[in-house]
Amino acid sequence: MHLDVMDGIFVPNISFGQPVVKSLRKATDLVLDVHLMITEPIRYIEDFAKAGSDIITVHYEACTDVEATLLKIRACGKKSGLSVKPKTDVHEIIPFLKLCDLVLVMTVEPGFGGQKFMADMLPKVEFLKHYAEQENLDFEISVDGGVGSENAALCVLAGANVLVAGSSVFGKEDITKAAEDILNAAKTYTR
Ligand code: ZN
Repeated sequence: MHLDVMDGIFVPNISFGQPVVKSLRKATDLVLDVHLMITEPIRYIEDFAKAGSDIITVHYEACTDVEATLLKIRACGKKSGLSVKPKTDVHEIIPFLKLCDLVLVMTVEPGFGGQKFMADMLPKVEFLKHYAEQENLDFEISVDGGVGSENAALCVLAGANVLVAGSSVFGKEDITKAAEDILNAAKTYTR
């Protein structure tokens, strides 16, 4: 379960905070992949860790000290994620990749659901995949924004192994089928 936390400052929208993560933790054993779209997330890492997050992803653009933020997530015993917005050059995060359990490539401008998938972000995914192989690093590569059955195979082909789908699942009447459609489409590419 990917949870988008928005603060109304880093992104224009406001969504929810720790209490919702805590409630979900009580209700499910699924992995809670918490995507913090908030300014200076280091202030809230402990809170989100205590709330029951499994993975905590922060934005490169939102941190004064990216390294300290990622280290803090790991010190709380959680998996660390780092995300880049569409306009951010992926090469800027190279120094931090060794501290990442997950790298999340935004394929829309973060902040609102239902936007169109930006296929021109896929070279970032390809770069990360190649870089991880070359440097023997082990992180998940996630894509977030506008992902659906029509582009799932492209994402996997580029090297993503986590696909975040919002509107393309929850905007459909039959959400189980919508999720299956995306999984099946993703499987059309086998590495
Ligand atoms: Zn997200």
